[in-house]
Amino acid sequence: MLTAGTTGWSKAPPNFFGRNAASGSCGDYSVTLGHGSTLWVKQLATRGCRLTDCRTGAWATVPDVLAHMPDLLPDGRRDLRFVVIGAGVSGILAVIRLRERGFQNVTVYEKASRLGGTWRENRYPGVACDVPSVLYSYSFAPNPEWSRRFSSGAEIQAYLEKVATDFDVEQSIVYDEEVIQAIHDGHRWHLRTDSGRDDEADVILAATGIFHHPFMPALDGLGDFSGDVFDTASWNESLSLDGRRVGIVGTGSSAVQTVGAIVDEVDALVLFQRTAQWVLPQNNNVYTDEEKAAFRSDPAIQIRLHDEVSELFAEGFANAVVDAESPALAKIAQMCHENLLTVTDPDLRARLTPDHRAACKRLVVAEGFYDAIQRPNASLVSEGIARIETGGVRTVDGVLHEIDVLVLATGFQVDQFLRPMEVVGPTGVKLSEAWAERPIAYLSMTVPGLPNLFMVNGPNGPVGNFSLIEVAELQVEYSLQLVDYIAAGDFRLVAPSVEATESHEEARIQAAGKTVWATGCKSWYLDDRGVPMAWPWSFREFQRRMSTPDLDSYVLTN
Ligand code: NAP
Repeated sequence: MLTAGTTGWSKAPPNFFGRNAASGSCGDYSVTLGHGSTLWVKQLATRGCRLTDCRTGAWATVPDVLAHMPDLLPDGRRDLRFVVIGAGVSGILAVIRLRERGFQNVTVYEKASRLGGTWRENRYPGVACDVPSVLYSYSFAPNPEWSRRFSSGAEIQAYLEKVATDFDVEQSIVYDEEVIQAIHDGHRWHLRTDSGRDDEADVILAATGIFHHPFMPALDGLGDFSGDVFDTASWNESLSLDGRRVGIVGTGSSAVQTVGAIVDEVDALVLFQRTAQWVLPQNNNVYTDEEKAAFRSDPAIQIRLHDEVSELFAEGFANAVVDAESPALAKIAQMCHENLLTVTDPDLRARLTPDHRAACKRLVVAEGFYDAIQRPNASLVSEGIARIETGGVRTVDGVLHEIDVLVLATGFQVDQFLRPMEVVGPTGVKLSEAWAERPIAYLSMTVPGLPNLFMVNGPNGPVGNFSLIEVAELQVEYSLQLVDYIAAGDFRLVAPSVEATESHEEARIQAAGKTVWATGCKSWYLDDRGVPMAWPWSFREFQRRMSTPDLDSYVLTN
């Protein structure tokens, strides 16, 4: 029989010795947490051995020990417990990839009641993705049913829901639970949701997304408006715009897509422009029935197409924006200029002409915007907004633009990531303090002092350059390589070193100065110092850095 004696028991014991208990056949055993340790302890238990905490010498029962020892998978790896935060593009991916690796102990907490992330939230008319559909698909789930070269938001949402069904992801998702706290006790993460639900995890994958905290502009009198007012990410779908006078604030991608989609429906459309944007034309051709049939019958065709488009996208766009002097960027600028020339009225064209280089702000890629803004019922207001009044928007020239509906297409707070969640590491590192000035992370995924916490599409990553699905795939694969070490018992905790994080950040800031984002415009890419918050190198470089983790850059704890 095993005897008790658990005084001074530590929650995260590093070592145990098996002591001769009853039969005299135990001998001395050293048991170290990690690979195979649970089996050791179980064997000792069946042989009637007792264990002591080697630091305190206190006796412990085997059940006590086992309670703090990891379970094992059939292949001997640690059966880790995962919490994924967010059921958007990256969260769905994380679950699928974890299961492929044999990890079943996965829960996804999703703050909304439906999956899809940004595509669930953004349902404004015209919402679409300006990354080609074949790239905006998971590599393991090509979609022969894409209707066009560039997909609508609704089609992407349907695709994500189908993938989640096909890969049985739903069973792992807990909806309407927002994680508000994650505290690491040196052993595990302890999480709490807004409803008071508690959970634990060996590893957190934070797939919280970027575009989910709408940015509310500080417009005087906004509360005085007597009509309907909402932002593009909270579109009022029950509201008919038929015959209404609609004002839209903003000229980013969301505004431009909305303008094109509603101009024919509304009585009058007034676009309030603070800064003119370059607009790259988009040929959004349909996929013919023959093309779709070919994709269906031979998935390799679509995979080849993916690779070709990926190459074109990397060379023609992603690598161009990180080299302000590149010929590819000059080509983009020329296409934008030519597009602008389709505006026939010289005054309107002058007001639509940006004062910065093409792609300095996030490039708008859209078809039909200039057509839409030249319609008789559309008008561009380039005077600044003085205030909002009961009946409409008064601009600084004193004119009141009367409208019935006011749409704020004013973007998102893009520097939140995990926040406002309270995150505290085992040595007391607080995310809120680490990011008090601005968010920083090693390779945009991990933060010093916060072990086993991996962000997908985190700070300063390639948000403006590549398909975010491709980015997520590479980052999840990278993170899971580190997880593999944990599961194998090589180490228990992994977090980046301060030195690696700072030197990566220094190099990133230096390279960011050569990108087009740093050529003299205001945009959401820039932090408070004017440094682009993005990956400033090529796609190939991103792939290279994501191929294998450099363990020297991490603090590894047993
Ligand atoms: P955005 O690009 O940040 O644009 C916000 C717009 O609101 C800008 O024109 C900004 O003017 C204007 N604005 C903000 N505050 C204002 C104020 N107080 N008064 C007047 N104007 C104000 O936002 P977004 O269009 O929602 O796009 C955000 C990001 O989401 C995009 O950059 C893109 O990455 C992503 N997105 C992608 C797609 C896609 O097709 N893949 C579609 C939609 C969105 P200033 O330019 O003067 O600051």
